[in-house]
Amino acid sequence: MAKRERRLFRAYDEMHTSRAAVVRVSDEGALRRALRGMAAHPRRRLTVRGGGYSLDAQALGDDTVLELAPEGFGGVREVAVARGRATVTAGAMATWAEVLDATAREGWVPPNTVTGRDITVGGTLSSDCLSRFSGAWGKEAESIERFRIMLADGSVVCARADAPAGSLERRVFDGAIGGLGGLGVVLDATYSLRRVSTPGRRPRVRTYFDPVGWHGFGWEAFLEQLRYETLHARRAVQALGAKAWRAPLPPGIYDAVSATVWFRDMGPRGMIISSRHVTGGKLQRSPLYSGPTPTRLFAERSMSCEIGADVGQTSFKTLHTLKRWSVDALEPFVFFMEGNVAAHQREQARGRRMTSSQQTFVLPVAQAAGFCAEVEAATDSMHPTVLDVLYLPADRGGRALSPTRDLAGFAVTLAYQSLDGARQPAVRRLLRSLSLRCGALGGRVSLVKNVHVGDRALRAMYADGLVEYRALKAELDPAGLFTNGLLDRLLGDG
Ligand SMILES: Cc1cc2nc3c(=O)[nH]c(=O)nc-3n(C[C@H](O)[C@H](O)[C@H](O)COP(=O)(O)OP(=O)(O)OC[C@H]3O[C@@H](n4cnc5c(N)ncnc54)[C@H](O)[C@@H]3O)c2cc1C
Repeated sequence: MAKRERRLFRAYDEMHTSRAAVVRVSDEGALRRALRGMAAHPRRRLTVRGGGYSLDAQALGDDTVLELAPEGFGGVREVAVARGRATVTAGAMATWAEVLDATAREGWVPPNTVTGRDITVGGTLSSDCLSRFSGAWGKEAESIERFRIMLADGSVVCARADAPAGSLERRVFDGAIGGLGGLGVVLDATYSLRRVSTPGRRPRVRTYFDPVGWHGFGWEAFLEQLRYETLHARRAVQALGAKAWRAPLPPGIYDAVSATVWFRDMGPRGMIISSRHVTGGKLQRSPLYSGPTPTRLFAERSMSCEIGADVGQTSFKTLHTLKRWSVDALEPFVFFMEGNVAAHQREQARGRRMTSSQQTFVLPVAQAAGFCAEVEAATDSMHPTVLDVLYLPADRGGRALSPTRDLAGFAVTLAYQSLDGARQPAVRRLLRSLSLRCGALGGRVSLVKNVHVGDRALRAMYADGLVEYRALKAELDPAGLFTNGLLDRLLGDG
């Protein structure tokens, strides 16, 4: 048999890599033929790859990587408006920048959008991504109406949120959202949209920066304020019901709520950041939401060493405590991580790697303050580049691999950035030991960013969901065709 050429793939963290053969298909017929062809080789393993923005091994495999050509699987297919409600249907390889561009020009947006432009619909659906809006609007799953997915045998299922419980369509809906590409290949998806500005006017975003506890920081009070403000927004959205989707929210409701903490020698400092869409308004840009400007590129590079991160965080956040609010254009607000992406690309062009570890720990409410105090002590000699916190309600559906399955709590993300892997071994050790504490406190490490957790501890965190996921996989993909480096760890029997 001819030797297959293998290509090197890298995760966004620039630490995880794999070599694999590549199958590229440009339409559904070719995809079906490729899947059936692989069925003849029972030991073949296929890893679906979208935009390749995963931080860990979610889109890495060492046998064959499946690439869907954007010409056949991308693009926004339709923005449909009926009886005041709107939906968007997009191919799996459509980028979120394309989706936002097609919807925002008429004043509609998806409730949840990730922070990188070229991340794809298939990739985020398979990861059930979250955003600053998830506290009020839920994670991505809550805005997905339906999607089509091709299974290992080449058949296509139209999975729907409103399919009867127990039906194949519903089980695939619950399993493949956040299912990390282990059940089949998502072809396209339809999302509900919400109106955020007057028809025909591109929305802007108003953000309020609220420094908390500058005269004595306490984790308990800080987290409670974050939870209170998130629930305030969530209750307002729920009380409005269908109206919350059809018209901009009433003034004063900030429905994107997140928090950030930075540790300096004087002790931790915190800030709660709340945003809402607005129609018009004079731009008063925040440097954070200004795109990949030279200042941002300089800041990203400086933040790759600890002192630079300390100085950068302190000055940046002090600026925002003085300025207090901004009004930004929609795209640079939504895709604010583009500054980081551009910095990665610039280092690559110089032959260097901007390596990072970003890990999200989801903690039950009662345990979160204690966990954060442990994080503070453990990072005393190694300050993170960024520490962000969200409050997330428990999932509405029963998604098997979700960190918020039956768990409302705080999602604490620790990020470390460096050049060429400096600090990364020590960071990995730190994140692994914090993961053990997170598991012992009844929490889970999210599977969407880095997953520096021992395999046994990881499986224990997802034990209930894994029983369901394995059963569905045995039914839909009995030969175990679809896999990747992270699923191998989750499903392995080691
Ligand atoms: C700059 C940046 C910003 C980010 N912002 C956020 C954020 O705001 N919120 C958040 O939650 N995460 C965020 N992430 C993480 C990122 O959104 C997820 O890792 C996302 O899954 C990446 O999607 P992708 O298109 O790059 O797909 P990939 O990384 O290629 O794949 C992701 C997973 O989806 C599967 N997959 C991809 N396409 C398909 C398909 N068509 N059918 C079946 N399975 C498929 C893959 O097998 C893999 O398991 C960010 C990452 C970066 C680098």
